[in-house]
Amino acid sequence: MPIYEFQCDICGTHFERRQAFGDASTPDCPNGHQGVHRIFSAPGIVFKGAGWYVTDSRKSSPAARSD
Ligand SMILES: [Zn+2]
Repeated sequence: MPIYEFQCDICGTHFERRQAFGDASTPDCPNGHQGVHRIFSAPGIVFKGAGWYVTDSRKSSPAARSD
């Protein structure tokens, strides 16, 4: 399962939590707060196993030109 990074808006605590892929729930802060938001596109996030994908429009095929 991927490891997501979270940060508490209340105390600023930064922590990681392993969650099932697609689980959009946010855990409580280790200090008991509930103002936690997930940090996206942070370095260090590793997707292991199948199901890893990238939506990168820059990789469009050069054969797609229509001139
Ligand atoms: Zn907190």
